[in-house]
Amino acid sequence: MSELRLRFAPSPTGYLHVGGARTALFNWLLARKQGGTFILRIEDTDVERSTRESVDAIFEGMKWLGLEWDEGPFYQSESFPVYKEYVQKLLDAGKAYKCYCAAEELEGKRNLAMQEGRKPKYDGTCRERLDQPDGQPYVIRFRAPQGGVTTFDDLIKGTITFPNEELDDLIIQRTDGTPTYNFCVVIDDASMRITTVIRGDDHVNNTPRQVQLYNALGFPVPQFAHVPMILGADKARLSKRHGATSVIAYRDMGFLPEALINYLVRLGWSNGDDEIFSRDEMIQKFDIHNVGRSASVFNTEKLLWLNAHYIKNGDPERLADLLLPHLSSRDVTTSGGPDLMAVVRTLQERAQTLEEMAERALFYYNAPTGYDDAALAKFDKQQLQAVFAAVTDKLAEALSSDAHGIDALFKEICAENSWKMGQVGQPVRIALSGGTQAPGIGEIIVTLGVEETIRRIRKAREHVAGN
Ligand code: GLU
Repeated sequence: MSELRLRFAPSPTGYLHVGGARTALFNWLLARKQGGTFILRIEDTDVERSTRESVDAIFEGMKWLGLEWDEGPFYQSESFPVYKEYVQKLLDAGKAYKCYCAAEELEGKRNLAMQEGRKPKYDGTCRERLDQPDGQPYVIRFRAPQGGVTTFDDLIKGTITFPNEELDDLIIQRTDGTPTYNFCVVIDDASMRITTVIRGDDHVNNTPRQVQLYNALGFPVPQFAHVPMILGADKARLSKRHGATSVIAYRDMGFLPEALINYLVRLGWSNGDDEIFSRDEMIQKFDIHNVGRSASVFNTEKLLWLNAHYIKNGDPERLADLLLPHLSSRDVTTSGGPDLMAVVRTLQERAQTLEEMAERALFYYNAPTGYDDAALAKFDKQQLQAVFAAVTDKLAEALSSDAHGIDALFKEICAENSWKMGQVGQPVRIALSGGTQAPGIGEIIVTLGVEETIRRIRKAREHVAGN
């Protein structure tokens, strides 16, 4: 194990967002590549907005994506006494102070500053205050350095420098005694000995404040890598407005975890022109320095393309397992019907998602209750009857055959009757599936079985005769 220690630190206030999943993925990849440790920390200090369901949704999403963590989950809500201890340390060292300024008073000063075109900033009223008014509520502020600059080297964005005069004295403990976000993050990252913080670049403005806190507490400052945001097609930050943003929603729409992972790794990171990466290749090739500086646009078409690739090349047995819930949600039971793995094999080539595959698999388990009459009407009625009769006769003789054998049988039928393949194959496809969108005739018949095929063609014959 190397000394590299990374963490993913989601706030459990909703589902696992694809942007969060990508942050988790980059951390996980770096940990796996370098034999480091990947830690999961749940940032649930905002008691009002944090929920157990959301924590579970994060676990579910990460497990589905295969982003297993080595340590944790740790909950910030369990560390309140630790944060308190460090607040006290800063107070004792004179690096923090109690601020008794009333909220309305601060609000008034802030508004005035904005009206006068100044940057709103705490004016330091309580910085040097010596009295401690009894019973009056107070917050605790960090005594931030006044002059100079705070700088850090970002692995993605390069050197970032903030003038200290722009950073005011951060509140580290609220009037109700609870610690604030930036403070908890620093204490945790330091106690967990995090060496590299990879997170979304919406946190860049927090980082100088955190660096000042590390310095004040005498903790080593970790490396930072701020990953640019994910945008929708209109270049606004990706949100529900653009479509699904939750990892689990993609699972439910029939995406494979390897497709989503492959899609997410390329969102901001590149390795030449390569698009397809197995998990091992990703681990081998991932380099945080190759993450681009600009935001990436979420492209559902590309995700679908990758998903189709992984479905096409997937193991039918595993796909069959993954397909089951999509069939159950359509009230399909597969027992007693064709072997699901065989069904999957006939559909792998064309389905872009498991939802689509489930939709296309329905006819195997539910014999058609209606037919595409418009498509049937393109054929002469008499001839349809003759085709159906010839096919059932031949099939009844064939007993068992593989898809090639069945295809050969259809060729024979065509030759014997001077029919074209389209005149035979299409009506049979409609008889078996109800419509015209189905796999090759040989494949369907072998999968359905000859008996069921004959039964369905007879039913279609009756339908045509009665029309
Ligand atoms: N809890 C923060 C979030 O969900 C992440 C903080 C961090 O990674 O430092 O945005």
